Amino acid sequence: MKTIPFIDLRAQYVELKADIDAAFLRVMESGEYIAGPEVEALEAEIAIITSSKHAVAVANGTDALALTLESLGIGPGDEVITTGFTFFATAEAIVRQGAVPVFADIDKQTCNLCPEDAERRISSRTKAIMPVHIFGQAADMDAFADIANRYGLKLIEDACQSIGATFGDRPVGSIGDAGCLSFFPTKNLGGYGDGGMILTNDGSIADRARLLARHGSRKKYYHEAIGVNSRLDPVQAAMIRVKLSRLGEWNDRRKRAAEYYNNGLKDTPLRLPAAMDKAGHVYHLYVAQYEGRHELANKLKAHGIPTGHYYPWPLHLQKALAYLGYKPGDLPVTEEACAASFALPMSPHLTREQQDYIIAKVIEYT
Ligand SMILES: *Cc1c(COP(=O)(O)O)cnc(C)c1O
Repeated sequence: MKTIPFIDLRAQYVELKADIDAAFLRVMESGEYIAGPEVEALEAEIAIITSSKHAVAVANGTDALALTLESLGIGPGDEVITTGFTFFATAEAIVRQGAVPVFADIDKQTCNLCPEDAERRISSRTKAIMPVHIFGQAADMDAFADIANRYGLKLIEDACQSIGATFGDRPVGSIGDAGCLSFFPTKNLGGYGDGGMILTNDGSIADRARLLARHGSRKKYYHEAIGVNSRLDPVQAAMIRVKLSRLGEWNDRRKRAAEYYNNGLKDTPLRLPAAMDKAGHVYHLYVAQYEGRHELANKLKAHGIPTGHYYPWPLHLQKALAYLGYKPGDLPVTEEACAASFALPMSPHLTREQQDYIIAKVIEYT
């Protein structure tokens, strides 16, 4: 069998080629290349599917997080409790505001931020909690909403990996004070470059975020705040809108592929990803845990099967954050998860034939 792509972005394009090409050309012909109707339409459509009152398009998911924190008034000296088992941008956005990321450990089953440990780390300087819905599965938002209420903290959802996922009957991104999305190409709803969005039900947060993302300006050449330039291009918005029409179906295909892996791999020593009852998991990634991950990854690679390591090194031990003073052993569950994390190919275009081959090889080498 020829090499299986880890995620097949080209197959996504091929499935939608006629519509994506038409959307691209529509923007090229429009003569309007910043802001405008495509961006507004995407904001309105995403607001509907996430049950959010407001959606603010920005340049990427990292900016969405940073601008959300700033719009919530989080700045120098403030502490934000989050997970070390995530992409670096989660913590980077906190540091960029001059605030301090405080890492709490994760739940062993789901690899999402552990509510009990997060609560233990609350101090007089804590201003917000920022759970990440990791790999497409919602964190325990009942528990985090309860903690945020009791301590008067802001609750921000890093939903960059989980558009379309739910917690109970609520779409992620709309449960806390604000939620952040990324349209990086490999995300479940990805564009053809960078993009991001801020979701909120609070008009004042949306207004502030929009202002800050547009050079602090409402009226051209008049500036009421120091902001940044963080916009989503209309050409990206138009193409993301095409893909949005497939998001539900593609997330369903991911779920079916995950079930197929679960069934095929149930007798192997791999610890398969746990799906919580209340969480509608959308399998951005299919991540198992296996201590022999490096050896297995090399053997699979030799047979044309790529695997992923999300994440090889936890955030609390990253060199860039050494000044925070964490040391190995501080977050044992996070560190064990990093050491054993083992991701198999996952995308809506993964075929049964490819999965059968992957499953057979994993069984053979474990
Ligand atoms: C992708 C991602 C981001 C950052 O998004 P960009 O659009 O790449 O800036 C932030 N947090 C998490 C959990 C992500 O997966």
